[in-house]
Amino acid sequence: MTVGKLIGVSRYRLHPTPAQEAALLEHCAHARFVWNLAVEQHAHWRPGRKSAPGFAEQCRQLTHARAECDWLRGGSVTVQQQALKDFAQAMANFFGGTHRSPTWRKRGRSEGFRVVAVKAGDVRRISRRVGEAKVPKVGWVRFRWSRCVPEGVKSYRINRDAAGRWHVAFAAVPEPLPAPGTGEVVGLDRGVTVSAALSTGEMLMAPGLRKAESARLRRLPRKLARARRGSHRHGRVKHAIAKLKAREGDRRADWVEKTSTSLARRFDMILVEELKIGNMVRSAKGTLAAPGRGVRQKAGLNRSILAAGWGRLVERLQQKAPGRVGRVNPAFTSQRCSACGIVDAKARESQAVFRCRSCGYAGNADVNAARNIQLAAGHAVSAREGPRVAGPVHREPQPVLLST
Ligand SMILES: [Zn+2]
Repeated sequence: MTVGKLIGVSRYRLHPTPAQEAALLEHCAHARFVWNLAVEQHAHWRPGRKSAPGFAEQCRQLTHARAECDWLRGGSVTVQQQALKDFAQAMANFFGGTHRSPTWRKRGRSEGFRVVAVKAGDVRRISRRVGEAKVPKVGWVRFRWSRCVPEGVKSYRINRDAAGRWHVAFAAVPEPLPAPGTGEVVGLDRGVTVSAALSTGEMLMAPGLRKAESARLRRLPRKLARARRGSHRHGRVKHAIAKLKAREGDRRADWVEKTSTSLARRFDMILVEELKIGNMVRSAKGTLAAPGRGVRQKAGLNRSILAAGWGRLVERLQQKAPGRVGRVNPAFTSQRCSACGIVDAKARESQAVFRCRSCGYAGNADVNAARNIQLAAGHAVSAREGPRVAGPVHREPQPVLLST
């Protein structure tokens, strides 16, 4: 299991001048170019061939490329190297199973670059509401000081979203949150009908767009199709679509932060399914180990998993509750009755309802799965290094889990 980058992000709206914006876009272009080269190198790799170049080798290649290409040499070497480093991290996340494999970056769609080795004084406050950050080859760029900037910023990332908004995100390692010390263990299931179901019976919904907003988002593409490409109207509609999508993303990101903080504070041990999101998304049919999870609404499920930002939630939990997040083999969690332990493929009455035909237990299907994950606590805890966490106090009659 690879833990993602230990970074807690605080994002601020960046307000570059038009000249600065052009320079920032140049950095974005360099980062994108370098990233896409790395994607291409790895795309050509096949089992049996010499392994695709790693970070160090790619850095050497970058040095050669800079020597030969004026355009690249004109840019910041930090920005370009960090794009390679980001790519290496993306590959590590992919192999760790928390993320999909890195893909091509396209111009105009969520672009950005990272700046590292930030010195004290490179980020400063100039008035109550305004701060500025020193960007290599660009100079001091202003941002809205909407909340405290974490101390000891070592790096930051500058992004431009599809709606054309610039943001700067300062990276700081989030403080691990203290465990409550109650010995309470919670099972967490990636829900289909809800974003996350807890073994306590709670169901957490990631916010999306409001009804009127979704309706608008459904209408806009038709409007876009009617507008002449390159026209003023076309641009305006495109911008409106991007803005709505950005709003949806903001709300989800906010939800992930709040939910992970709350779970890390409330429970000593948090158990989640061992899931390879990339694989799940590609094959909704499931595997032998996780049969038929979501067979019923493939397309919908694929969208839901991605939309719910499950991978991000787990990643954040690992950062905020280090050593307190356990992975559980997902075999049969959705088909097993959490009350009597019987595995019954037909118990899943619908996407939302689980009804056991043996003992009569009925409940939300995602909560039932979360309870199974929680019941696997003994296995997950004993498999872990470090101090043992006491098991849950209230338990249903314990079936022998994970034995099938
Ligand atoms: Zn039962």
